[in-house]
Amino acid sequence: MTEKTPKLRDALNGIPTYKPGRPAAAGGPVAFKLSSNENPYPPLPGVMESALAAAASFNRYPDMACTRLMTELSERFGVPVEHLATGTGSVGVAQQLVQSTSGPGDEVIYAWRSFEAYPIITQISGARSVQVPLTAGEVHDLEAMADAVTDRTRLIFVCNPNNPTGTAVRRAELERFLDRVPTDVLVVLDEAYREFIRDPEVPDGIEIYRNRPNVCVLRTFSKAYGLAGLRVGFAVAQDPVAAALRKTAVPFGVSQLAQDAAVASLRSEDELLGRVGSLVCERKRVAVTLAEQGWTVPDSQANFIWLRLGDRTADFAAACEKAGVVVRPFPGEGVRATIGETEANDLLLRTAEEFRRGR
Ligand code: PMP
Repeated sequence: MTEKTPKLRDALNGIPTYKPGRPAAAGGPVAFKLSSNENPYPPLPGVMESALAAAASFNRYPDMACTRLMTELSERFGVPVEHLATGTGSVGVAQQLVQSTSGPGDEVIYAWRSFEAYPIITQISGARSVQVPLTAGEVHDLEAMADAVTDRTRLIFVCNPNNPTGTAVRRAELERFLDRVPTDVLVVLDEAYREFIRDPEVPDGIEIYRNRPNVCVLRTFSKAYGLAGLRVGFAVAQDPVAAALRKTAVPFGVSQLAQDAAVASLRSEDELLGRVGSLVCERKRVAVTLAEQGWTVPDSQANFIWLRLGDRTADFAAACEKAGVVVRPFPGEGVRATIGETEANDLLLRTAEEFRRGR
């Protein structure tokens, strides 16, 4: 007789697995990882020292309330501490938001293709994903997303700029959309790449949340601030959303290393944002060169670019890998390539040119 296995929730059946960007293969002549939208710069000296100092006490639990980080964020963004919540990366906070709003019978709307964690965390909660295709220009179709709202909708993700296409929605269209969404539906503005935005028409979610209690803004230390490995992100929202995030937080989820490194990053912000400026220059160089080569590249406001390659996606990713850069293929759709070290970007550009010429 076969033993019975533990009963698991049916909601978990068929859940897509999160695919992390592949690391660069070891042992090759050059190998750059352009597959996870990471910051190519090593931690700044002050940040490293804070993290190392915190490491001396990792026999202790961290400060559960993240007091110093909350105070620092509150001053930096001009928001009350009560409107802030931290979590294990912004993906951890996103999961708490879904958990707080949505269960079986409920609907979560987001654009598709967008950040691959959205379908996963929605399905885990038992809610149904409503995916609204991007426009032909690879941008969120906010009109269609507002049309998709029903009385079962509990949460809508707006990924701005969008991962993996890099495209951003602008102030007027976002405000129009928010005016149409019922105020009892939570709209999450996922601004993981906020610091890379240069289009002045793209709004800062933190300005928008102030007048809209159904808007929650997600930010992270993983991208511009270069702390992806430490797992710390945060949300800005009014009550009762912020209070729900405090209730659903994993106790001691953000390590002391992460908290102290995040505080030090905020204090070294000028230097960090200088690095972001260099990456933005590189983004422009990459996009302009690709366009000159004849590629169609959607305007990216993030630290990556998107090439819609369709059925040539796998071949292009393989050609990149052969050249020493690992990109992120979405089979049958396209390739996302992070803007990394200048040398890595050069390899990408050279590969793209050769690929176009059919070599
Ligand atoms: N949102 C978006 C749009 C992302 O691309 C990512 C990272 N890939 C995240 C959230 C999560 O980042 P983290 O959990 O590291 O803060």
